[in-house]
Amino acid sequence: EGGRARKPDWLRVKLPIGPNYRKVRTLVDEYKLHTICQSGNCPNMGECWGAGTATFMILGNTCTRSCSFCAVKTGRPNEYDADEPRRVAEAIVLMQVKHAVITSVNRDELADRGAEIWHQTVRLVKESSPSTTIETLIPDTKANWEALERMISAGQEVVSHNMETVERLYRKVRPQAKYQRSLEQIQRTKAYGKRTKSGIMVGLGETQDEVFKIMDDLVAHDCDVLTIGQYLQPTQMHIAVAEFIHPDVFAMYKEVGLQKGFKFVESGPLVRSSYHAERHL
Ligand code: SF4
Ligand code: SF4
Repeated sequence: EGGRARKPDWLRVKLPIGPNYRKVRTLVDEYKLHTICQSGNCPNMGECWGAGTATFMILGNTCTRSCSFCAVKTGRPNEYDADEPRRVAEAIVLMQVKHAVITSVNRDELADRGAEIWHQTVRLVKESSPSTTIETLIPDTKANWEALERMISAGQEVVSHNMETVERLYRKVRPQAKYQRSLEQIQRTKAYGKRTKSGIMVGLGETQDEVFKIMDDLVAHDCDVLTIGQYLQPTQMHIAVAEFIHPDVFAMYKEVGLQKGFKFVESGPLVRSSYHAERHL
């Protein structure tokens, strides 16, 4: 941990490695799938994989963007795997997933931003697991609203798009994204008729007033569900943690968020946007 601040107790987690965990791991490997749980080194893997939940990452494991908090590798993706939707759908059948969370890297180099693979993946999961509910955590389509519609029109119940941080920190944290454009994407998703959701990380140097402001902006753009979690630095190459936010502050954020009009707020040190996702339907 050379030089890194010691984590407070509330961030320590045990990794219960049970039979279900192993089963999920084997399937993910066998089907050559990517999960955000693994690439993000998520502290909840023991709990989620033990319960048979995982967040599948489609469209490969190389991202055209370079967000400073994210452990997914940046580069020129060369993979366009038309068979991926089928493998994701099969793994979800075998894992008997009740609520599936699917996300992807950004594919800014594709004219359709990956919307066709998105559409086929959700369609095949719905076809092969009709009782499974689906949350899609989609990328920034860069104002390609046709691509957005294709991405969100395959029958998924929830569509999330993470704002990640407050407006002032965008250049540092999410350099290729635009705060207003992401808000507009959420508003358009709601106008399309979907349950909308967004997530932010705290501990990046934002003030509490800035958190209240992003809550107001999200409510004004018709976001139904908000998740708030502690940012943790995946490696020393990534942006440093500015602060470990106390659990009492997370509890306060939850209360304020509900007062401001969110239908559901999940807020806590270990909360990730896919954590307890089955409660956000
Ligand atoms: Fe995976 Fe999300 Fe659970 Fe983390 S919280 S292990 S990313 S499903
Ligand atoms: Fe990571 Fe998503 Fe940013 Fe790509 S766009 S670097 S996957 S957070």
